[in-house]
Amino acid sequence: MSKIYGLTGGIASGKTTVLDILSENGCKIFNADKIAREVVEVGTVGLRQIVSEFGEDILLPDGSLDRKKMSKIVFSDKTQLKRLTDITAPLIRKRILNIIENVHLLDDKTIYIFEIPLLFESNYQPYFDAVISVYVEFDIQLKRLMKRNNLDKKSAEDQINSQMSMAEKKKLADYVIDNSGDLSELQSEIKTLLKNL
Ligand code: ATP
Repeated sequence: MSKIYGLTGGIASGKTTVLDILSENGCKIFNADKIAREVVEVGTVGLRQIVSEFGEDILLPDGSLDRKKMSKIVFSDKTQLKRLTDITAPLIRKRILNIIENVHLLDDKTIYIFEIPLLFESNYQPYFDAVISVYVEFDIQLKRLMKRNNLDKKSAEDQINSQMSMAEKKKLADYVIDNSGDLSELQSEIKTLLKNL
């Protein structure tokens, strides 16, 4: 039975950077954000349900979802957000669980990693062989987020504080990758992890 690990972490903790390194080291990567886009592609049940809930106006002229319009509708309106996630969340979950099940049916030496930013919040941990959290110290996370998203300090702090804390994610994880150092330190953190998996 092949093994599949969940990978999570806070905003700008370095998940994408870690996944790139894991991929370079032969791991096979799945990504929940990609699945979230796939379940509302043209021709899907998901997109049909969104249209029947929000109307044809939510589509672009080419028939695909107008993501900007959708984001505007659900941004800071919890009722509208719930209408959307009531449609998408079960579809995403079904697909994620299906992939995990299929990997477990395989029998190879590949290490499979599934990135799910809200892994703990959505209770995915029981389905994985183990969960890895990417951890970064608050001040460094803040600096990296401000730089990457071109944000002022207050907006970046608000974004970080609206999420489950890094300390909590660290506590809940089976393995922790500390990304508070530079990229070469991250490389060696990941080498150690791969030896332990
Ligand atoms: P999000 O969840 O917001 O998409 P993420 O967890 O995938 O973010 P990354 O995009 O990998 O995080 O990293 C956030 C920023 O920090 C990026 O600009 C990245 O280049 C930078 N970064 C990541 N790790 C390091 C590191 N060890 N040293 C310096 N910069 C880093």
